[in-house]
Amino acid sequence: MSGAAPISVEAALDRARARLAGRGESPALDAEVLLAHVLGRSRAWLRAFGERELGAAEAARFEALVARRAAGEPVAHLTGRREFWSLELEVTPATLIPRPDTELLVEAALARLPDTPGLRLADLGTGSGAVALALAAERPGWRLLATDRSAAALAVARRNAGRLGLANVAFRAGDWCAALGGEPFDAILSNPPYIPAADPHLDQGDLVHEPRAALTPGPGGLEAIERIARESRAHLRPGGWLLIEHGYDQGESAVAVLEAAGYTAVEDLRDAAGNPRVVCGRQP
Ligand code: GLN
Repeated sequence: MSGAAPISVEAALDRARARLAGRGESPALDAEVLLAHVLGRSRAWLRAFGERELGAAEAARFEALVARRAAGEPVAHLTGRREFWSLELEVTPATLIPRPDTELLVEAALARLPDTPGLRLADLGTGSGAVALALAAERPGWRLLATDRSAAALAVARRNAGRLGLANVAFRAGDWCAALGGEPFDAILSNPPYIPAADPHLDQGDLVHEPRAALTPGPGGLEAIERIARESRAHLRPGGWLLIEHGYDQGESAVAVLEAAGYTAVEDLRDAAGNPRVVCGRQP
C-alpha cells in the first residue's frame, strides 16, 4: 500500500487481507477490526460504505497497523481494546487478552449462584478484569474482589471498572489466595496460567506478545490450579463454589485436583468448541 493514489475501503481491505493471509486465524476479521478502529466506525459501516475513499492520513495509519499485525502483534494490542461478554475492555501487553472461551467461567458462576444482593465473589489473577467485570455488570448486587500479583495488570483492570462505571468491584494486589483476607466468599473463580512451560505454542503467534506469567505456571501446567484448589478451601463458606478454567486436555486432571483438595460435586464443563474447559467444585 503506498499513500499516493486514493484507495477505497473495499480495496484497502482487499490489500490488507492479502498481506495478512496465513498470519493468525482470522486475517479477514483482523483487517476489518483494524480499519474500523482507524476510521472510528463499525465493521458494519465498512461493509455498507465499501466504495468510500480513505483520506491519506487514514490510509497511512491503516497501512502501519497492518504492517505491525503482519509482523505478529495481536490485534487487541494494536487497537488497545477487546470485547469480552458484552463489555469493551482496555487491554495492554500487561494482561492476557481475554478469550471467548473464558466466557464459560462467567456463565458457570451465573448458573450456580443466586442473584442475591451482598454475595461475595473473588476473581484470582484478574488480568484485564474481564471475569470480575462481566459478573459485576450482570449482577449489580454482588460484590466482586479482583486480585492480581501484577500491579500493571491491576491498573488496567481498575481503569476498565472506572470506564464501565462498575462500582461493585474492589481490587487487591497479591498472589492467588494471599490477597483474600479473613471474610468467607460465596465463590472463587480463576482463569490461571495453565500451559506447560515447554509447550512450543508459547513461542508462536500471538502468545509471544502476552505476559508469560499469565500463560504458564511451570513445567506441569497444573501448578496454579493445584495451589488455588488447596488454598481456596479456607476462604469459601460452606456450599460455596470454586470455578477454574483449564486447558483443553486437563479436564480429568483438574477434576482429580479439586477432589484431592476435598471439594465435592466436582464436574467439568465444555466450552463452545466442545473442549473440557471449566472445573467446578463445591465446598462441603
Ligand atoms: N486459553 C489460553 C490459550 O490457550 C491460555 C490462557 C491461560 O493460560 N489461562 O491461549
